[in-house]
Amino acid sequence: MKTFEELGVSPEIRKAIEEMGYENPMPVQEEVIPYLLGDNNDVVALAQTGTGKTAAFGLPLLQQVDVNKRIPQSLILCPTRELCLQIAGDLNDYSKYINGLKVLPVYGGSSIDSQIRSLKRGVHIIVATPGRLLDLMERKTVSLSTIRNVVMDEADEMLNMGFTDSINAILADVPQERNTLLFSATMSPEIARISKNYLRNAKEITIGRKNESTSNVKHVVYTVHAKDKYEALKRIVDYYPQIYGIIFCRTRKETQEIADKLMQEGYNADSLHGELSQAQRDAVMQKFRIRNLQLLVATDVAARGLDVDDLTHVINYGLPDDTESYTHRSGRTGRAGKTGTSIAIINLREKGKMREIERIIGKKFIAGEMPTASGICQKQLIKVIDDLEKVKVNEDDIADFMPEIYRKLEWLSKEDLIKRMVSHEFNRFSEYYRGRAEIEQPSDSVNAEIGMAEKGMLKRETEKVLPVSLVYSSTWVKLIISSLTNLSAY
Ligand code: AMP
Repeated sequence: MKTFEELGVSPEIRKAIEEMGYENPMPVQEEVIPYLLGDNNDVVALAQTGTGKTAAFGLPLLQQVDVNKRIPQSLILCPTRELCLQIAGDLNDYSKYINGLKVLPVYGGSSIDSQIRSLKRGVHIIVATPGRLLDLMERKTVSLSTIRNVVMDEADEMLNMGFTDSINAILADVPQERNTLLFSATMSPEIARISKNYLRNAKEITIGRKNESTSNVKHVVYTVHAKDKYEALKRIVDYYPQIYGIIFCRTRKETQEIADKLMQEGYNADSLHGELSQAQRDAVMQKFRIRNLQLLVATDVAARGLDVDDLTHVINYGLPDDTESYTHRSGRTGRAGKTGTSIAIINLREKGKMREIERIIGKKFIAGEMPTASGICQKQLIKVIDDLEKVKVNEDDIADFMPEIYRKLEWLSKEDLIKRMVSHEFNRFSEYYRGRAEIEQPSDSVNAEIGMAEKGMLKRETEKVLPVSLVYSSTWVKLIISSLTNLSAY
């Protein structure tokens, strides 16, 4: 493995990235940086989000800027405002020690006037969403005649979002003598076409195997009748009480409906889609980033640019129409060396799409068995006990209130008190699942594909399901009481 110095990265940039904790180049950086530091080098890089691609193209672009010329020298196109801000923010961080270097993000949904003012003051690198840049070009407030490098980041997503014409119009205004870099998670025929039209002798770099999703991700499918999809979603979420994940829906309407239902039923969920105002979207994303929100129900487009590394699960509430979107969705978990699970809840009609996805990602889905009511209650109870055991007691803060509390609870035995504490948290689940019929999983061949090892991991023993009331009222509460005997006596 080479160092950043050996790749030719300048001392000012190295100082900044070292401060950011970048010790060694990531594979995409090792491949792309030295190549781009040369002249006339076009690149098509197939790299997923999270592979370090921003620095791979960002560092050479920054290093090649002539700060004394206050004219746009590089242009980065990306699909969403969030990604635009993220890239601009990263470039600013990398260029902390390059005096006077200006990076400007331009994107829709915010004041065009202030962007025009910034452009007039002079910038070196423009990071733009195609629609807003075209608008600025039409107003003659930006000229691309001095651009020497163009990066198309998440090119496949820009094409999916219908930006093909805008991209064509933009590239027609950039001088032919330029470097063009195309980053995409997947290689589709459209990407191949763009690459053929706009890139010259491009070097093709693939990080990971072509079209393969992250190897840290386990892909699990639950096949249910269409009418049971929402119930199945709830069961899966309930079965993983520590879940921190995104539930992807196909449309804005479905996204809002699912989020509303979950919220009404007491889940820590919220929605993210294009019909929300920018301020609403920012607020939801921030809540999710700081983990004040456990479940984000989102459309593919809205979730782009949301830079969250440690999702435990991605849930596909139905499979995306465009099968390549699945790669993006599942790539949001299992990042930064962690493992993750991408769950698909599908009905039988979606089997064809599932096969297509398996072909693209080069991996088989594992058939998950729907959590039973008793299995869920058991998991939730254990979570309640775990939370109780871990709770931090601030003796000083509560000391003044304790005499009154002891007086009020005097008449309860220790066992009664524990039962009440547990029920306080647990009743929502026990009431919901009590006597509820299990979800039928239509039988199909996929079950036969499960390896024995996976079976042990994913499928619980097919035990006879006890009525939930029995499960929790006797054995479990006794278990709780015995495990909580260490709680200080009141
Ligand atoms: P990206 O694919 O550009 O979104 O980068 C994914 C994450 O990796 C970001 O949080 C970067 O800050 C981080 N990163 C990029 N390059 C390095 C590096 N060489 N060492 C450590 N972290 C890095």
